[in-house]
Amino acid sequence: MWSFQTDPDFQAELDWIRRFVDAEVEPLDSLLGSQWNIHDIRFQKYVRPLQEQVKQRGLWACHLGPELGGKGYGQLKLALMNEQFGRSRFGPIVFGAQAPDTGNSEILAHYGTPEQKERFLTPLLNNDIVSCFAMTEPHGGSDPLLLKTQAIADGGEWVITGEKWFASNARFASVFIVMAVTDPDAENPYRSMSMFIVPAETPGIEFVRDYTYFGQAEPEHAHLRFNAVRIPKDHMLGEKGEAFTVAQVRLGGGRLHHAMRALAEATKCLDLTCQRVASRFTKGERLSEKQMVQEKLADCWIQLRQFRLLTLEAAWLADESKDWKAIKQNIAAVKVMMPKVLHDVSSTALHLHGSLGLSTEMPFSYHLMNSYMIGLADGPTEVHKLTVAKEMLRDIEPPADQFPDYIYHKARAQAELKYPAD
Ligand SMILES: Cc1cc2nc3c(=O)[nH]c(=O)nc-3n(C[C@H](O)[C@H](O)[C@H](O)COP(=O)(O)OP(=O)(O)OC[C@H]3O[C@@H](n4cnc5c(N)ncnc54)[C@H](O)[C@@H]3O)c2cc1C
Repeated sequence: MWSFQTDPDFQAELDWIRRFVDAEVEPLDSLLGSQWNIHDIRFQKYVRPLQEQVKQRGLWACHLGPELGGKGYGQLKLALMNEQFGRSRFGPIVFGAQAPDTGNSEILAHYGTPEQKERFLTPLLNNDIVSCFAMTEPHGGSDPLLLKTQAIADGGEWVITGEKWFASNARFASVFIVMAVTDPDAENPYRSMSMFIVPAETPGIEFVRDYTYFGQAEPEHAHLRFNAVRIPKDHMLGEKGEAFTVAQVRLGGGRLHHAMRALAEATKCLDLTCQRVASRFTKGERLSEKQMVQEKLADCWIQLRQFRLLTLEAAWLADESKDWKAIKQNIAAVKVMMPKVLHDVSSTALHLHGSLGLSTEMPFSYHLMNSYMIGLADGPTEVHKLTVAKEMLRDIEPPADQFPDYIYHKARAQAELKYPAD
């Protein structure tokens, strides 16, 4: 069955989310610093009561499946929720759905021991703590096979040495999920690395510097150095050599949620632009009456609807197949399209707002920067385009003949064999 309808009961929840985010959550965006700074006294004062309302409504941390103790909403419903609370910077954390904690909690739920779940997963799901995913290294991020950080077994411990780069929220995190080389000589390089839990208070973790980008509230992407950091043997997540498999657990859903939040960001830019062009007057008429302006608005709207369909289809396929590998082309396509859509729509919004749009009194430069951010974080667009194309080409056999079977004279000969002229 194929339907674009949302179940009326769930639509009522989505409507509630929209009203709640607009009225209660969005004002925090212009008031507070980093969303992950749960130690800020104002976070306690303003964010905690909102989180409580979300919990009472039964909409808290919905990303885990029932097998992992979650509500089992599935990707389609999660996508629709992210579309609503993604309009606000604080939306995800108010709903217990902020990256990288969502993905990290999925890893911990899948691979953690009961003690690790009690120590890290439960407080993470309650947002009593936040976490960090440390995979990228300073010398290169697009090719994970270049990672050099090593974990060496020493008695009952692992000793981690190396550097990590752009590890988001590290300075607020109580726990790091760290990818490190455990078998540098592995025949299959994709079996050379493992994933580890590293509690933030472990001696030897050095903060080299925190980075930021234009429009962010405060620096929050850390360059970290692990100086022979010792963790217990059982802090490995999954089996030795399984880091790539473990990492996949967090990526599929995360990319869809990011996509719907990017859609929400872009939609908000367009909503604001419609308000502006309807009010701005020049050369005898409103901007909204000028056809070149209308064309820009129409192009944005169409692009947003296309992207929404692509993403919701991928979410629907995820629910149907329950197999991220089987739909990796769809997920990669979503990942490729999301920075472009946010880029195009936020640029149009900035431009149609004129000088005001460019100013730091408006959010558009930040959204534009975010478009570059989502084109890099979790791998650059080029790498994901390769995935889309490789999947297309996977089962293609080169024809034996120099000329393809679909050349007209061959196709006609085949057709005449099938439908002889008596
Ligand atoms: C805001 C932000 C937050 C991040 N958070 C985290 C985090 O929490 N944890 C973490 O581990 N990492 C994080 N990252 C790092 C992110 O995963 C890397 O930036 C990304 O993988 C790209 O690696 P790089 O920055 O080293 O770029 P490089 O590998 O140096 O690539 C630079 C450029 O080269 C081109 N390129 C690369 N590969 C190819 C190719 N195969 N074909 C064609 N062109 C190519 C692309 O244009 C690319 O943008 C974050 C990044 C950003 C921007």
